[in-house]
Amino acid sequence: MDRTTVDPIPFLNLAHVHEPLESAAVEVFRQVYRKNDFILGEHVRHFEEEFAHSAGAAYGIGISSGTAALELALRALGVGPGDDVLTTPFSFFATAAVIVYAGARPVFVDVDPATLNLDPRALEQALTLKTKAIMPVHLFGQPVDMTAVNTFARAHKLHVVEDACQAHGARWHGQPVGALGEIGCFSFYPTKNLGGFGDGGMAVTNDGRLAERLRSLRNCGRRAQYEHLELGYNERLDNLQAGLLRLKLPHLKTWTDERQRLAALYRRELAEGPARPLEVTPGASPVYHLFTVRAPRRDALREHLATHGIQTGVFYPTPLHLQPAFAGFGGKPGDFPEAERAAGDALSLPLYPGLSEKSVLRVTSAVRAFYAG
Ligand SMILES: *Cc1c(COP(=O)(O)O)cnc(C)c1O
Repeated sequence: MDRTTVDPIPFLNLAHVHEPLESAAVEVFRQVYRKNDFILGEHVRHFEEEFAHSAGAAYGIGISSGTAALELALRALGVGPGDDVLTTPFSFFATAAVIVYAGARPVFVDVDPATLNLDPRALEQALTLKTKAIMPVHLFGQPVDMTAVNTFARAHKLHVVEDACQAHGARWHGQPVGALGEIGCFSFYPTKNLGGFGDGGMAVTNDGRLAERLRSLRNCGRRAQYEHLELGYNERLDNLQAGLLRLKLPHLKTWTDERQRLAALYRRELAEGPARPLEVTPGASPVYHLFTVRAPRRDALREHLATHGIQTGVFYPTPLHLQPAFAGFGGKPGDFPEAERAAGDALSLPLYPGLSEKSVLRVTSAVRAFYAG
């Protein structure tokens, strides 16, 4: 087939969810504009309540990004210099970066090849006398085994911060992620399942004291005007952003259902292999931020799909322990073989609300044709 004559299937297309909301979004802008309600305004307060409720948490604290939320979560728990934090080497950069920002040391734990999530069975061997916290990542929208993580954390008196930046609405044994540990952090980066129109994030918790601390940390360590209790930051969620996110939140469930339906179709069509979808852990309800397969000859498959107009993504081509930014922590090739294997064969296929079943079938038949040819 000629690259120029087929309809392209983009990796992600936000038009389907944005077009129907356009006039309501313009109305939110007009309202915020006219009220001059820009900082910690009415929309932030409402959105914090509404989002926390959807995540099964008592408190929500709007923060400027998912990255900032994760860093403030560690700081609120007192994680800092001299502490080790256990996390996965197979995630977005921010997961490990925030540990370093807070002054602590990331200690990686290899992933389970079936799910590519942190393998709780590998926690024990990574434990040091300095371990202070665990930061599991619900990768691609699939919950980590939080029963195992929390049991381990309780046994060793560790804090638990969930990186739920890809997992809005995902459930572990029926409970939404985010409030399963002490603090859960979400991102509203535009491509996330609940995406804003710029950067944004939120921390959720059931602990009122931690909520107060997070509120202070995101707002210059402020208690009252010009009274700064500690060295906080300017990391608030914008009121305009919160207003726009409030428009989207009521649709999240419908969009998630659609992702799950399309994922089931991918699974059915790819059941014969050799490109294998990630497995779903019993008890996990993934929200499919991405639909990822383990693909032999990944790069050639990717090129083949591109010639058929199908755009794919590689998340992540380099595990965190091998990123130059974290070279100071002594990671070397071979340290985390499962994460390294995944970096070589994980391929994410197009998946978003509004993607047609016909497009999914075109993707899966192109995948099959590649391996048959
Ligand atoms: C997106 C993401 C973040 C960071 O969120 P931002 O809002 O972009 O700062 C952190 N961790 C994971 C796993 C992510 O996917």
